[in-house]
Amino acid sequence: MTIWEQGPLYPDTGKKIVEFPYSIRPGPSDSMIVIEGFDVQPDANGNFIDNGIYQEDELNAIHTFAVMRMTIDLFDNLLEKTINWSWQQSRRHSPVTVRITNNDINARYLRDQQCIELDYYGPPGSRIYNCRCTDFVVHETAHAILDSLRPAWENGDIETEGAAEAFCDLAAMFWILSQPDLCEKVIIETGGNLEQDNMLSLFGVGHGFEENPMKCVRNAFNQNIYDKNAWSPYDFSTVLTGFLYDLLILLFHEKKVIIGEGTALWEAGRHWMKVIVKAYQYAPPGNVSLTHITSFITRAINSERIRDLLDKRGL
Ligand SMILES: [Zn+2]
Repeated sequence: MTIWEQGPLYPDTGKKIVEFPYSIRPGPSDSMIVIEGFDVQPDANGNFIDNGIYQEDELNAIHTFAVMRMTIDLFDNLLEKTINWSWQQSRRHSPVTVRITNNDINARYLRDQQCIELDYYGPPGSRIYNCRCTDFVVHETAHAILDSLRPAWENGDIETEGAAEAFCDLAAMFWILSQPDLCEKVIIETGGNLEQDNMLSLFGVGHGFEENPMKCVRNAFNQNIYDKNAWSPYDFSTVLTGFLYDLLILLFHEKKVIIGEGTALWEAGRHWMKVIVKAYQYAPPGNVSLTHITSFITRAINSERIRDLLDKRGL
């Protein structure tokens, strides 16, 4: 299937072909995902590849399905179990419906409607499609995955909401780190110095509204400090993603002295992802604080410097 590496708004990235070890039904669809209003057929070889036969909106559907499927496969692997959507606990066969609509500027997961909405907006010819941004597709898929792991968090307090938003932004980083070719691209983009804005740290490049050159929505390379009275879930989420991004840099530096930088990032990422996913798996089913997550991680990763990273964040 043909996907965008990051989305058309991320400079100097393009498309690539990803393979799945199983066949994909027309739609594209399977038991977990349906893209509403689409019945895209595979090409003569059984593939969904951008070889001139598909319309733009069909390519949107192919990209969205593939990125979601990769996200589910990644989490199945990290969790060492098969994910079911929260409404599938009763074994009811019911996939998540993805709506690619001209509704507003939203990208959201709606449990009540068993749906992920990825809107597009702007005049024809210069439309902005949220579904083409891999960060957004992975983020919303991660909301559905987290809802199956921690259903009560949907109605949690603001810090719990922040922990959930962090999980979904981290998932977008996991998606990059799980692909060796994208790890190499991060190394090329940064020259091996991750202490700068880059494909991995920036979330939703081109979709932000503030006047900075990369116009991102959020950035894990930040200096944000914990404030228990913060009013937005993102004030909490960015502290956690900031701390965890610092930790990834630490693990990467430990690895890169012995192996090539691209491999070091991939390997450090693998370890980092597993620990984070476990921290969320063992987090309280009800309200959670950021320290519930960070204390698990501190115990799992034996490094003297973690305490300094937490102190810097007020955690
Ligand atoms: Zn979210």
